[in-house]
Amino acid sequence: MVYDFRSDTVTKPSAPMRKAMAEAEVGDDVYRDDPTVNLLEERAAELMGKEAALFAPSGTQTNLLAILTHCGRGDEYIVGQDGHSYKYEGGGAAIFGSIVPQPIEFEPDGTLDLAKVKSKIKPNDIHFARTKLLCLENTNWGRVLPMDYLAQASEFAKIHHLSTHLDGARIFNAAVKLKIPALKIAQYFDTVSFCLSKGLGAPVGSLLCGKREFIEEARRWRKVLGGGMRQVGILAAAGLYALDHNIGRLEEDHMNAALLTERLKSMPEMEVLPYSGITNMVFAYLRKGNPEGLAAFLKDRGILITVRNPLRLVTHMDVDRKAVVALVEGIKEYLAKL
Ligand SMILES: *Cc1c(COP(=O)(O)O)cnc(C)c1O
Repeated sequence: MVYDFRSDTVTKPSAPMRKAMAEAEVGDDVYRDDPTVNLLEERAAELMGKEAALFAPSGTQTNLLAILTHCGRGDEYIVGQDGHSYKYEGGGAAIFGSIVPQPIEFEPDGTLDLAKVKSKIKPNDIHFARTKLLCLENTNWGRVLPMDYLAQASEFAKIHHLSTHLDGARIFNAAVKLKIPALKIAQYFDTVSFCLSKGLGAPVGSLLCGKREFIEEARRWRKVLGGGMRQVGILAAAGLYALDHNIGRLEEDHMNAALLTERLKSMPEMEVLPYSGITNMVFAYLRKGNPEGLAAFLKDRGILITVRNPLRLVTHMDVDRKAVVALVEGIKEYLAKL
């Protein structure tokens, strides 16, 4: 048994999920003939309170599809400096769309300060790129954006004629934390993308949700990017299973992350960052030893963590309370040996 705290992307499809995949009805999705994909897209749209949705291989692709569809060549999108859709997607919007990013530092609560955003909106002038889109992320490094902020950001975007996209890779973690349906969060955005392959436990897949016309345009871009897949109902079935069975249980992941946060806080050798244990992520600096040494020590005990500073420890359906306790014990033993 390996306990893997590197990410919530490491979950493996459960036996009933694999059964649903094996039994899925399929067709050629490029011809829109795959009934399971069609069902998943309908369900996703419904869950986000949008007209339509599009299934894609990854969250990187659904974010890119959103940006390519919201913006054209020479347009600009405003995004967090550490935002996934800027920093962790290889510059795709610039590479494939000639779209200019305008990154801004996140505030400590994971929001973008709207006064700072305003100061970066370019006037309509031939010298400047055209500012078109505001991208937010929820959850952001495990933080849940405040609902009143989302309302303000949405209002702000309307006033400044910006479209809005939410990178909601983990929107269900935010919704479960707030005990509200995800569409209450999604209502503040023109488009939302979310991942099936993080805490929801599916092996592959993300959905982009928005107005029907927008999604049709994004469908075209998906084909251009090579994301048009064929008998992909096998994967969509995993997604449907995840939406049916794995949303409510995210609360367990949050409880396990809260437990881990509490235990690490009680150790003087650990400096736990304030935004730990809100949803399913815990961040901490080691005051003694180093992440390389700790990772190697834990690996021998069947526990995996990413080597980074601060540590980022992520809970998910394949690490239970027992795994958290084993991790804490492992860290204590490592520190005691130094
Ligand atoms: C994981 C993630 C994505 C998408 O990642 P893929 O690995 O391409 O599916 C997008 N945004 C955030 C915030 C993420 O954590």
